[in-house]
Amino acid sequence: MNSPSKGVLFVFSGPSGVGKDTVLELFLRENPSTVKSISATTRPMREGEVDGRDYFFLTEGRFEQMIAAGQMLEYARYGGSYYGTPRAFVEEELKAGRNVILKIEVQGAFQVRRLMPEAVLIFVMPPSFAELRRRLTGRGTDSQESIRRRLKTAVEEIACAKDYDYIIVNDDLEDACRQLSAVTEAAAHQAKFYENFMKEVHEECLDLQ
Ligand code: 5GP
Repeated sequence: MNSPSKGVLFVFSGPSGVGKDTVLELFLRENPSTVKSISATTRPMREGEVDGRDYFFLTEGRFEQMIAAGQMLEYARYGGSYYGTPRAFVEEELKAGRNVILKIEVQGAFQVRRLMPEAVLIFVMPPSFAELRRRLTGRGTDSQESIRRRLKTAVEEIACAKDYDYIIVNDDLEDACRQLSAVTEAAAHQAKFYENFMKEVHEECLDLQ
């Protein structure tokens, strides 16, 4: 056994419009051993979304029941809706030795850090604020007011990036995906994740003495 016995938990955040979904999608295609947690939310389903694939779409009542039952690993209110990570999936996958990635906003990321200090926090930055503004405006799907609100939230989120472990800059998709692969690979090889393996090797050494 030459790998950590438990999987590593990665948290992936970044402002709206930075392209984190696209980076993550490409990364997961190239790294099938890492699984993405499916979040629960109370926001309305968007066109093209599928319940159970993009999110578990819940009523406020059901979401609050899950909070009360301790079934959410973390949760936050964002844009007037609840978003949260169902606990059971994450715990089972980590226990089975698989790496898990949560795509969540910053309040949830810091809750995970408090609860699981060994989690690795990764933040996706735009190459510049002007570029983020350009990408949000260029989508052509949002009103001026909605773009202004998203940019204001982005400023607050970017201010939190300094407390993450790693920064990825999404200037070019392939390059950002390479950065994410490098970061997750290196982070999973931290000595602290190899304690059991080191103990086994040490015990073998003792047998030889
Ligand atoms: P959207 O509504 O655009 O899908 O997501 C809005 C924000 O909620 C994004 O920043 C997304 O990363 C975040 N989010 C999605 N799922 C979760 C979750 O389970 N917990 C938290 N805290 N944030 C989430």
